[in-house]
Amino acid sequence: MPSSSTSARLDVAIVGAGACGALVAWHLLGRDAADDGALRVALVEPRAALAQGVAYSTPRAEHILNVNAARMSAFDTRPDDFLQYLAAQPEAGGQEIDALAGVFAPRRVYGRYLAQRLATRAAAAAPERRTDAAVDIRPEAGGYALSLASGAALHARAVVLALGNLPAALPLPPGAVAPAGVVEAWDHAAVAAIDPGDEVCIVGAGLSMVDVVLTLHANGHRGRITAVSRHGLMPLAHAPGTLPQAGGIDALLPLGVHARMRMLRRWAAEAVAAGRPWQDAMERLRPQVQALWTSLPADEQRRFLRHAVRYWDIHRHRIAPEAAAVLAELQAAGRFTLRAGHLHAVEAGPPLQVRVRARGTGRVDTLAVDRLVNATGMHKALRGAPDPLLPALQARGLVRAGPHGLGVDTTVDGQLRGADGVPVPGLWTLGALRIGSLWESIAMPELRGQAARVAACARAYVAR
Ligand SMILES: Cc1cc2nc3c(=O)[nH]c(=O)nc-3n(C[C@H](O)[C@H](O)[C@H](O)COP(=O)(O)OP(=O)(O)OC[C@H]3O[C@@H](n4cnc5c(N)ncnc54)[C@H](O)[C@@H]3O)c2cc1C
Repeated sequence: MPSSSTSARLDVAIVGAGACGALVAWHLLGRDAADDGALRVALVEPRAALAQGVAYSTPRAEHILNVNAARMSAFDTRPDDFLQYLAAQPEAGGQEIDALAGVFAPRRVYGRYLAQRLATRAAAAAPERRTDAAVDIRPEAGGYALSLASGAALHARAVVLALGNLPAALPLPPGAVAPAGVVEAWDHAAVAAIDPGDEVCIVGAGLSMVDVVLTLHANGHRGRITAVSRHGLMPLAHAPGTLPQAGGIDALLPLGVHARMRMLRRWAAEAVAAGRPWQDAMERLRPQVQALWTSLPADEQRRFLRHAVRYWDIHRHRIAPEAAAVLAELQAAGRFTLRAGHLHAVEAGPPLQVRVRARGTGRVDTLAVDRLVNATGMHKALRGAPDPLLPALQARGLVRAGPHGLGVDTTVDGQLRGADGVPVPGLWTLGALRIGSLWESIAMPELRGQAARVAACARAYVAR
């Protein structure tokens, strides 16, 4: 794909080319009988590789998808697309599609899949490629001017923000400074470089923590590993062979959060009583999570965020059984421990002195460790977003915070709402930035539909 310095006006500039940006481009670059020509599209992405983003850029074989292959197609209209790709890969060992449906494939294979699908599309209508980051977007006559970190500019009639998962900072108390040597969990090379004999403390106990532990384990780690999270909870495992269940969420919709949780527990108990895994209960509501979220009044959503979200997260964001088995094995051997508490302070080492305030008692314990890993995952609030673009857009009144301060406010199609709440012409977003409006907006089963819809809206807009 050419990287051009032209400043001719584009039809659509896509900012961020992880999975979402790549899929929006895929849809925009397609031509069918109804199209009057290929659109001029630019992809602005600082990473060298397209379609990888945070999740699929990992080179590590032990980092596997947390969704089985049957559900990972990039296209709603071709549900077997990823399975077909996977079946043709050496990793599949010649297995047929049916046998691969329940497989949790390496994420690097999924990244290659997305990149391959985009490259095939781009071969006919190459998008402009900028290996750069957008730092500002300014309305101008007929569209928008994008300022890039390099100092270059782009001009486009419409813009799609596909910024994805922005990294959360280490949760230190106000004013505290992180000492040198903190490793970021999404920096796979830095995690892989941790000495196998090191004592390691991981802050956070979600999917990024699981990635870190799997890498340490794959590297033959001998030192003790301690994960610290506020509630001391970590993701539960998928049940092998769980398949989508028949819906039945109508009974939940009129209920408040607490009553919904009670009913969910009852469904889980019924499944177990029938000889099925409790995970069946989650499968029943998984496709309907957006409907469940948007049907809650704001105060009930707040109640969910205050009281239920930690429990929701570990049941909803489950890990592959093989990943769970590694964690269980390390825990049983006393080599991996999960503590409930929050980071109180960190003092420079060596060894680093990590002070953890225990949940419940408030007692402060000190862990002397060689490495501290920040695995706190994604930054969800618009406030404090670790990307210069969002504050710049906010200062221009082009975005406002989404419900509960989470992400940004959008219309049902993902069009941004400005400071006054009015949809901003020609500006869309998708993915994690829509979390406040939709809650369930971070995994492929939702993202592929959002990508198709945003692309259709942008195409219609530039055709006017
Ligand atoms: C560790 C991990 C594992 C996951 N596993 C799964 C899974 O198994 N199945 C599943 O369905 N989902 C999974 N997810 C969810 C995952 O986030 C989505 O599937 C998908 O990758 C999101 O794609 P995205 O494009 O929205 O975000 P990202 O992949 O984060 O991509 C966003 C891109 O935007 C770029 N960007 C950011 N700011 C700018 C800027 N100002 N200018 C230009 N570019 C910018 C970034 O460099 C990045 O490449 C996982 C997520 C993580 C973090």
